[in-house]
Amino acid sequence: MSTQFEIQGLKSSIEGKEILKGIDLKIGGGEVHAIMGPNGTGKSTLASALMGHPKYEVTDGSVTLNGEDVLEMGVDERARAGLFLAMQYPSEITGVTNADFLRSAINARREEGNEISLIKFVRQMEGKMKELEMNPEFMHRYLNEGFSGGEKKRNEILQMMMLDPKLVILDEIDSGLDIDALRIVAEGVNAMRAEDRGFLIITHYQRLLNYITPDFVHVMMQGRIVKSGGPELAQRLEAEGYDWVKEELGIVDETVGQA
Ligand code: ADP
Ligand code: MG
Repeated sequence: MSTQFEIQGLKSSIEGKEILKGIDLKIGGGEVHAIMGPNGTGKSTLASALMGHPKYEVTDGSVTLNGEDVLEMGVDERARAGLFLAMQYPSEITGVTNADFLRSAINARREEGNEISLIKFVRQMEGKMKELEMNPEFMHRYLNEGFSGGEKKRNEILQMMMLDPKLVILDEIDSGLDIDALRIVAEGVNAMRAEDRGFLIITHYQRLLNYITPDFVHVMMQGRIVKSGGPELAQRLEAEGYDWVKEELGIVDETVGQA
């Protein structure tokens, strides 16, 4: 079955301040959507609200994955339903190794009694780490502790590959990556493109989109999607920046939620 992810009129507030002011977005299976925009326009807020972060209160709208109401689900349920977020700033967890974390995450998505065997898990993890050109020692390091920015991002992609999600959200996965790491991360994403999986790629710059060709590009400003187009929109933003969008739409300050 092909995946269908649908956001309608989504509004979200942080500490009583409205940040998302009505987001509409449909992502079909096999599609890659890019959300671009200057800093402070609500991109990460959208990612957090979709994943059910408790700080981000949803005040209006609906989100469905294959017809199921995502907003009704708790954070764990969303993950089990197939939502995956690679965070802009992944957390460090001392005392939990990368392998332990991933194995628990995989098993949490499986029925009781159907847990992945240790040997199968280790083989899979080793294989994926090799694809991502990660040092095998990262298997037993504490989650993200002391990882460089680029290592954290690769590790997020490793999690994505192992968890086999239906809807992947990548929040600035390209930030802090040198060109080799960027290529490896992009190859990992491209290898995961499939008919039953959709992607929402949040990025500030278009350089990632030189490696991952999006089907649709959306520009976010003031907590809304203000413009949508194809890959050529990302190229124009790269060449000309965001000012022409602001001028076209009569936007003076593109940020949202400033005091
Ligand atoms: P972007 O990812 O586009 O740079 P964000 O979604 O991170 O933008 O932020 C949008 C606005 O929401 C900013 O004004 C930011 O300060 C505010 N904001 C986001 N997350 C929080 C939070 N956890 N607490 C308070 N304010 C927040
Ligand atoms: Mg952000």
